[in-house]
Amino acid sequence: MDKSVDEASKHGLAFNPHVAALPPYNAGMSIAVARSISSRDDIARLASNENPDGCSPAILVALASPGLEPWRYADPACTALRAALGRKLDVAPDTIVVGNGSEEMIAAISRAMLVPGSSVVTVVPSFGLHEIEPLAQGAKVTKVAMTEDLGFDLDALEKAIAAAPQIVFLSSPWNPVGPALDRPSLERLVAAVRPGTLFVLDEAYFEFADASCPNGLEVLRSSGIAFALLRTFSKAYGLAGLRVGYAVCSHPELARVIAAAKTPFNVNAAAQAAALAALGDEAWMQASVARLRTERGRVAAALEALGFKVAPSQTNFLFFDCGGDSSALAAKLLQEGIIVKAWRESGNERYLRVTIGTPAENDRLIFALRRVTPR
Ligand SMILES: *Cc1c(COP(=O)(O)O)cnc(C)c1O
Repeated sequence: MDKSVDEASKHGLAFNPHVAALPPYNAGMSIAVARSISSRDDIARLASNENPDGCSPAILVALASPGLEPWRYADPACTALRAALGRKLDVAPDTIVVGNGSEEMIAAISRAMLVPGSSVVTVVPSFGLHEIEPLAQGAKVTKVAMTEDLGFDLDALEKAIAAAPQIVFLSSPWNPVGPALDRPSLERLVAAVRPGTLFVLDEAYFEFADASCPNGLEVLRSSGIAFALLRTFSKAYGLAGLRVGYAVCSHPELARVIAAAKTPFNVNAAAQAAALAALGDEAWMQASVARLRTERGRVAAALEALGFKVAPSQTNFLFFDCGGDSSALAAKLLQEGIIVKAWRESGNERYLRVTIGTPAENDRLIFALRRVTPR
């Protein structure tokens, strides 16, 4: 038995067994740890899908504003931010719940909907929390595998969704793989939803997708099903460190229960001010996304030229088959000062996910891969 479990039982602690058994969340390595392992200062962190361009200068101005009062509790309802999001998305603010990152919304939705024995459908490879948060509630999670050509298995997903789980968690564009559901595919999955199922569409990478990718909110709203659509300020807007994401719900009662499942003062004052400033400077975000999409095409072509099978990407990262255990390749890249994410989910250990960085970081990745891959 693991020493910490041993100590807990010595103290007579009875953990929630679902929580005690959770698999760890595979977070990207810190720059400090990478420095100590690689003995290099110039670390390229290409593992966490952060925005290498930083964030809008308007956000830094808002954070320095005297209007920000750290000694006061922030608005627990995020009233101003929900109003701004309501205008941007043309939805009623009482259908929006803001979270400490969209991660918190995944947790709150799971807490609001699931009891031990509930069932959840997602995909594999998956965004870890789409599995971990349901497991924390004691739910059973069915994971539908991707196809040979690294796409959504629509037949299998349709069947799993039609079996009426309590929640379906899908990211589209898909983290960690990269493709997005096109409109007919999304409509087909939505049509398979039965009463009793909440369809959660996680669009963390929405801003990076091209015009062939449907606006999930539009498709979901016209479908009439119960849904929660997740978006975040962490990726395209460059606010990962401040933690703001949100859920747009099919109806206010769903939003009310999800809000009841979050912590009251979940989004701090700095985060609320920063998100509002981000919405006030969409031009910065769009320019950054345009640069990153160009780089995505360039890096994908370089990886393909090296012989890797790369999944099509509508995101700010690339997912590719490195032919063997991806952790060996990740370790070699780390020696070169580059942090990437070796996928660890069972059956998917051949895949590596790399975030699109600055042009210089991407060049380093490409040169390092040329050096370390035998051919
Ligand atoms: C990054 C990511 C999130 C988490 O975003 P936060 O808003 O930073 O919590 C949620 N879903 C997916 C699919 C992601 O890749």
